[in-house]
Amino acid sequence: MIKLANYTQGQWQEGTGPGTTLYDPVLGTALASVDAGGLDMAACYDWARTQGGTALRALSYAERAALLKQIGQVLQDNRDKYYDISLQNSGTVQNDTAVDVDGAIYTLSYYAKLGGKLPAHVHLEGESQGLARDNAFASQHIEVPARGVALLINAFNFPSWGLWEKAAPALLSGVPIVVKPASATAWLTHEMVKDVIEANILPAGALSIVCGRPEGLLDALNALDMVSFTGSADTAASLRGHRRIQHDGVRFNAETDSVNSALLGPDDSDAAADLLVREVVRELTIKSGQKCTAIRRIFVPESRYEAIAGAIAAKLKTITVGDPRKPEVRMGSLVSRQQHEAILAGIAQLSHHCEILFNGSTEITIQAEAGSACVAPMLFGAKDPDTNPLVHQVEVFGPVATLMPYRDTEHAFELVRRGMGSLVASVYSEDPQFMAQAAIRLAESHGRVHLVNTEVAKVQTGHGNAMPQSNHGGPGRAGGGEELGGLRALKFYHRTAAIQGSPDILNRLGPANTCQGVAKP
Ligand code: NAP
Repeated sequence: MIKLANYTQGQWQEGTGPGTTLYDPVLGTALASVDAGGLDMAACYDWARTQGGTALRALSYAERAALLKQIGQVLQDNRDKYYDISLQNSGTVQNDTAVDVDGAIYTLSYYAKLGGKLPAHVHLEGESQGLARDNAFASQHIEVPARGVALLINAFNFPSWGLWEKAAPALLSGVPIVVKPASATAWLTHEMVKDVIEANILPAGALSIVCGRPEGLLDALNALDMVSFTGSADTAASLRGHRRIQHDGVRFNAETDSVNSALLGPDDSDAAADLLVREVVRELTIKSGQKCTAIRRIFVPESRYEAIAGAIAAKLKTITVGDPRKPEVRMGSLVSRQQHEAILAGIAQLSHHCEILFNGSTEITIQAEAGSACVAPMLFGAKDPDTNPLVHQVEVFGPVATLMPYRDTEHAFELVRRGMGSLVASVYSEDPQFMAQAAIRLAESHGRVHLVNTEVAKVQTGHGNAMPQSNHGGPGRAGGGEELGGLRALKFYHRTAAIQGSPDILNRLGPANTCQGVAKP
């Protein structure tokens, strides 16, 4: 069994404790262990800030963008190995691994291209504003790279993409990173970091990894550092309460869980209904529903409730679930046996409050050894969603969704909003006016609104795919964070300051100055 070492202060260091074991969720075999015992997090961060940060900031945006391109190439060269690790440790079929591994490579290449076009000077945000008569004294906002370290805490479901979608904007900004992957799937993150370190692409201190739960993970941060967290709302809440964040002002971004929606428009379009059904089935089954963006709630006009339930159930019945090593299997395993128990508990909870429209556990034979973490898809129905608060609150992080009817569009928008802030809502309709109205109404409580009609059916990027060009995050329940969205992502790793002075001095802040800043989103 491999013991995954930590990489801090430019050295690989095994933990001194007993460690936590990572398993194959299908076969139950022990694969590796993580352990952070004995790590000195203060020294780790100090090294990253002084060595990594200084070296990264000495480069231009374009030079750092070139480093991202090289990282992408290393990942591409080792892609087969990552697919194999994912198969063993996450229990995913090849198409699902692609979302994680190829999604990471694409995100890196996107930021490499974007960064290659950035100017290498201080960014002036907007025009200067006069503060005195005749503009004798004025104010100009500028943005400069943060000088702290970025701690990236990731969830178990995206060990690859979860790292690189955060790392790309941070490194491009000139900020060194320390990644702490989720323990259950840390192997893939670890292998990628190891390959990038061995390829000697980044300056010393720019990239470190700590596995498990290091002592002082947050205590050792200082007020000018950043934490970018992905995981459950409960963990986010407990981290938010940490003194460094609550009291000292460490910048904190949270991407948490969310009960995302799919909404079928009121127009009687069969084509739109087909598109919704297809997307719901895809979202239920990709990564066995273990995506923060997966569709959890489906809203359809009352008159179509039965027909849509039947159409989704018919498609789900054809899904082969089981050991991803079997070529006929389309949907693999949950990530661990603990998750398996948690999903079964969530299913039991929803069963008390909903009707069962499709029960995969009786309709589908799971093609895996007994005791595997595979679970079949479930579709629930809640005919009176107004009096069923649970369906708007509970995120069962597996292949589980609930269908609900709505009376009219106002009712539909109100029901969607009861998720109290989600990452994404998708809308299916052939009525462009309704789509535009839905976009504006849902934007207030969603980080992304995904509009699908027949015109875009073949080219749309998918309800659940977080594209680097678009904002990823959501208000309220979803954590209130923002990631990706092109250059917007760089904001988190920069500081904005208002510079007040004479116009002559303010004029010197622009292109002639060699200190690096960020372009406007
Ligand atoms: P989790 O239990 O909250 O763990 C997330 C991360 O936080 C892991 O790295 C975990 O480390 C770490 N952690 C937990 N407690 C900690 C503590 N006290 N101090 C420091 N670190 C701590 O979430 P998960 O089970 O991995 O992921 C599933 C959840 O993430 C779902 O609810 C899903 O919706 C959400 N998610 C959201 C997004 C998004 O972008 N919005 C993306 C993916 C997943 P250990 O693994 O070592 O415990």
